Amino acid sequence: MTLPSEKDGLDPNFKFPETETGTVVYNVDPLIVKYHYEIDYIHSYCQDSPWFLGLMNGKLLGSRCGKCGYKFATPRAHCMQCGAETEWMELPLEGTVHTWTTCYFGSQEFLKETPYHLVMVEFEGVDTLLLARLVGVPVGKVEIGMKVKARFRRLSKIAPTDVYFVPA
Ligand SMILES: [Zn+2]
Repeated sequence: MTLPSEKDGLDPNFKFPETETGTVVYNVDPLIVKYHYEIDYIHSYCQDSPWFLGLMNGKLLGSRCGKCGYKFATPRAHCMQCGAETEWMELPLEGTVHTWTTCYFGSQEFLKETPYHLVMVEFEGVDTLLLARLVGVPVGKVEIGMKVKARFRRLSKIAPTDVYFVPA
């Protein structure tokens, strides 16, 4: 005997096969579900490229205003003070802790490393500060004015975290 669905190729009883994995539901009102998401993100560092290339080569670069001379401890294409274009300058690899905080919570990437210290590093003759991690100092032992020196990851991630500081 021929089933009606086999006769004309039409199958009103067709069903997708069930999958082994369900969907993780966190909440129903509002409905919150887990959805895995993964992308490759190809992006340019544009004018900040020399700063990242510096990190890969054990150098910290800052920006100096060619017009008013203001010096930034971070990449800046234009001066915050007068708007003129800046040029790159090499920063010293030693500085002092201007201020600090110890983090007991962080984003997913850093959560497993808590508690950790973040410091604003002050460099001789530079007008702004650099935010970075301070390692090698126990909790409760970070001090304002502490001498620190830069270290670089041997295998660069080409990220701001390539540089971190240790006690000098
Ligand atoms: Zn300027």
